[in-house]
Amino acid sequence: MFAMDLSATVLCCTPSYAAYLGERMKELGYGPDDIPLKAGIFGAEAWSEEMRKDIEKTLGIKAFDIYGLTELSGPGVAFECSAQSGMHINEDHFIAEIIDPDTEEVLPEGSVGELVFTAVDKEAFPMIRYRTKDICKLTREKCSCGRTHIKMAKPMGRSDDMLIIRGVNVFPSQIETVLMNNGYAANYQIIVDRVNNTDTFDVQVEMTPEMFTDNIGEIEARQRKLSDDLKAMLGIKAKVSLLAPKSIARSEGKAVRVVDKRKI
Ligand SMILES: [Zn+2]
Repeated sequence: MFAMDLSATVLCCTPSYAAYLGERMKELGYGPDDIPLKAGIFGAEAWSEEMRKDIEKTLGIKAFDIYGLTELSGPGVAFECSAQSGMHINEDHFIAEIIDPDTEEVLPEGSVGELVFTAVDKEAFPMIRYRTKDICKLTREKCSCGRTHIKMAKPMGRSDDMLIIRGVNVFPSQIETVLMNNGYAANYQIIVDRVNNTDTFDVQVEMTPEMFTDNIGEIEARQRKLSDDLKAMLGIKAKVSLLAPKSIARSEGKAVRVVDKRKI
């Protein structure tokens, strides 16, 4: 076991991986008292309070949230403190603002909007009023830990269409590019769910009338090819299902490309 062999006291990974480790530990017959872990720092994907409680119980640790983005410093933009009620932003390095994503107007403290950062001491790669596309809110309310740095809430969503699947940023447009390159039309649906704390990622795409066949071998080969191309583009594996032409419901308005069933 990772933590036993190395006597690690802190674990840093995605929350879904921590939950997986907890499950695996249980399967192997270990309890929280068998490992020296005391705390965990988890980020890079959305996670709920329920998931926090679950991880804390199975691993016997305190689980803290962390926020960062590659363009600023990677991890290390904001951390949770002992109060576990939002993340203090490292304001000696980053100035945070909340704006209205449509008008770009700066909103008063406590408003929900898009998080914008200016890096104060970054060199060579300046970041001035960088729009994160993350929707959240900021507060200067006194924190029980004594720190006075502004706190950000867990991001509540995105102002663009980016999905975060198993900690990886996925844009529907990337999937569409792969489908088009393989000769498919834009009749597809991306279905994301969370089963046993792990994101599932399904891509359903209609065959064109020209490629339509009932030859299972041919269909499976096409599915594998798409799955490989998606993995090369996104870095994660998708379950691809080819459907008969016209089997995805057509929408009268905006096409429903993404069905995110995760309850976070
Ligand atoms: Zn605090």
